Amino acid sequence: MKKNLYETALEQLDSMTKLIDVEPWTIKILKHPQREVKVSVPVRMDNGEIRVFTGYRVQHNNARGPYKGGIRYHPEVDMNEIIGLAMLMTWKCAVMDLPYGGAKGGVACNPHELSNSELERMSRRYIYEIHRIIGPDMDVPAPDIGTNPRIMAWFMDTYSMIHGRVEQGVVTSKPIVLGGSQGRAESTGLGVVYTMESVLRKLEKTGEITLAIQGFGNVGFNVAKFAYEMGYKIIGINDITGAVYNPEGINPYSLYEYRMRKGTMLGYPHGKNIERDLLLELDATVLLPCAIENVITEKNAENIRAELIVEGANGPTTPEADRILRERGIVIVPDILANAGGVTVSYFEWVQSKIGEYWSKEVVYSKLKGKMISAFEEVWELAKKKELDLRSAALMIAVERVAKAIELRGLWP
Ligand code: NAD
Repeated sequence: MKKNLYETALEQLDSMTKLIDVEPWTIKILKHPQREVKVSVPVRMDNGEIRVFTGYRVQHNNARGPYKGGIRYHPEVDMNEIIGLAMLMTWKCAVMDLPYGGAKGGVACNPHELSNSELERMSRRYIYEIHRIIGPDMDVPAPDIGTNPRIMAWFMDTYSMIHGRVEQGVVTSKPIVLGGSQGRAESTGLGVVYTMESVLRKLEKTGEITLAIQGFGNVGFNVAKFAYEMGYKIIGINDITGAVYNPEGINPYSLYEYRMRKGTMLGYPHGKNIERDLLLELDATVLLPCAIENVITEKNAENIRAELIVEGANGPTTPEADRILRERGIVIVPDILANAGGVTVSYFEWVQSKIGEYWSKEVVYSKLKGKMISAFEEVWELAKKKELDLRSAALMIAVERVAKAIELRGLWP
């Protein structure tokens, strides 16, 4: 049976207990989220009908700082998925050494079927239902699949109205005029590319580097854009509608414009359409899964031809596939490190809100690059020293940091 993200996250945590030297009771604590909230979100639809959506917020651990994590709007959102993603956020913030814990939230809905005003009413009601447990020093949401800066503005406004004061720091990835940070929108994709460059340097890869990118949303498009501008050759890109392959290289701006105009990748004139999921099996140097979870599985792991996988999405590789790929010598840069650029610039945004300063895009990019490279270096060095794969090394650093924080804070009473 397919494992849910929570089961996968627990399995990963278990695998760490043999490797790290912390009090075993701290690991016991980390297996359980500190708070799981499920709320009803009643919404008056445009036709007068009342629909009741289900919303979630899971706060996994705050030993190192306020909870941090995105809100996902997707029909398949459920509690196990949100718990698994909240645990990943705890590790992601810890491996990046950000002063945050981990959380995640979501509403089970299809945002594309809702009108703008239905989306606004649902978003405001959801925040009303969870407003007591979030706040700039308590829990700071951000966007994830299906949510965006416009929705963050509604979240911030609703929270500020309920609390009777402007609270810019309650969410991150807001529009710039409301205290959002320069560079936040593209930060995850840019961070993925900085990480890819670091690992290619370590692997001493020279000559032509080719890329295959799965997903063409916020992360996938920005990965494609920055990689293209840095001179990498992108030979394949897909999204939910189909895949484009061109061994001579794809211009992401042109493909984006076509997809916006036609609503699909099918029929794109500067490349060949191939079966959507065959993109994962292209003969590219680097495969960048930047769409959804559980796409590299035991069914296709043997067919992957890339030498390096950089995980832009959260949880794209199942544990079984991970094992197969490792045995085949394929290097994988794990999600908690590779896609941490988004939460890192969210942290910069939160700091800017707190001190009332706005940083330029150049400052944000340079701070992001510094953070991504130093986290990568730490993971790479530990992996070399302990003869571990990068996922285990990243998890080891993260779990150890959080477990130590729990140990030092102690158990009360
Ligand atoms: P998005 O909704 O903007 O884009 C998702 C893309 O994936 C779309 O192009 C969609 O068409 C495509 N897609 C969906 N199913 C697919 C399939 N089966 N095959 C190929 N393409 C498919 O979402 P996003 O913000 O880009 O997030 C993508 C992933 O990155 C998610 O796992 C998310 O949790 C993770 N992530 C996002 C951020 C961020 O800042 N946006 C940060 C960290 C991690």
